[in-house]
Amino acid sequence: MGNTCSRCGDKAIYSRTYSGEYFCGQCFKKSVEEKVVRTISKFEMLKYGERILLMISGGKDSLAMLRIMNSVARTHASELVAATVDEGIEEYREDGVEIAKDACSNLGIVHYVYGFKDLFSYTMDEIEKLKGKESSCSICGILRRRAMDIIAQKLDIHIVATAHNLDDIIQTFLINLLNNDIKRLPWNLPIHSETELFSQRKIKPLAEIYEEELSLYSFLNKERFQKVSCPYMHEGIRSEIRQILNALEKDHPGIKYSFFNSAINVSTYMRFPKIERQRCKKCNYPTFSEKCSVCSALDALEAK
Ligand code: SF4
Ligand code: ZN
Repeated sequence: MGNTCSRCGDKAIYSRTYSGEYFCGQCFKKSVEEKVVRTISKFEMLKYGERILLMISGGKDSLAMLRIMNSVARTHASELVAATVDEGIEEYREDGVEIAKDACSNLGIVHYVYGFKDLFSYTMDEIEKLKGKESSCSICGILRRRAMDIIAQKLDIHIVATAHNLDDIIQTFLINLLNNDIKRLPWNLPIHSETELFSQRKIKPLAEIYEEELSLYSFLNKERFQKVSCPYMHEGIRSEIRQILNALEKDHPGIKYSFFNSAINVSTYMRFPKIERQRCKKCNYPTFSEKCSVCSALDALEAK
């Protein structure tokens, strides 16, 4: 590259095109960590002394979040616990669970594993055989969100942190718009309280970090993370949207960040008027209709 780090003058290994800065490895890592801290304070994600649940899949983003939140928590006197959801996908999930367990134990963070089988009576492998035409990821996504809520309640948590990055957020925003799924927009915000019926806050501390920067961060930290993809992964339109947004960013550096800000403004606006929920007749969780999406999905499986 031949350029020098804009901060310390050492040899640069990365150029942040949207800001025009160059970084050596050390300064790059520090800049990512500082940016997460700024996001946390900008969106007022943490309050002093709360109990935070980190959802750790074993993928690179979740391990970056674990590492950064571990140092942030000290300044907020927060108590950290971590959990991994085991969807029950053979030859895929075991590796992620082990990696998450090791990473937490290295940092002295208590780590829990909760399985779909125990929570919902089905593994994803079993669901895959029963589900018919329905997409695996949409059923899995519904169950994972519910698993997170159940775990948070069981562990008496105030805040649930997930490792969504800036790219995840803008992709989901566009997908929701294209599907006319407007009422889900606020779920995508960096900080969000699901409904009045549910007390935990959900936060996304990596919300302002580009996916490619998290890959480099994890590479520089020599992080061991899960690389095998889920056998049921069917990204559909998401991978096309990812390509379009990355192509735009290449020609117009910073456009993803500007789009992120638009997504936040629109989604914030969509919180009002608040579409309040009722409780599911079957499981009592908050829902937009009489029966929640989890009960509907499980009933459909039972009927097969
Ligand atoms: Fe679940 Fe789809 Fe992710 Fe696999 S890729 S774990 S099925 S959401
Ligand atoms: Zn229900």
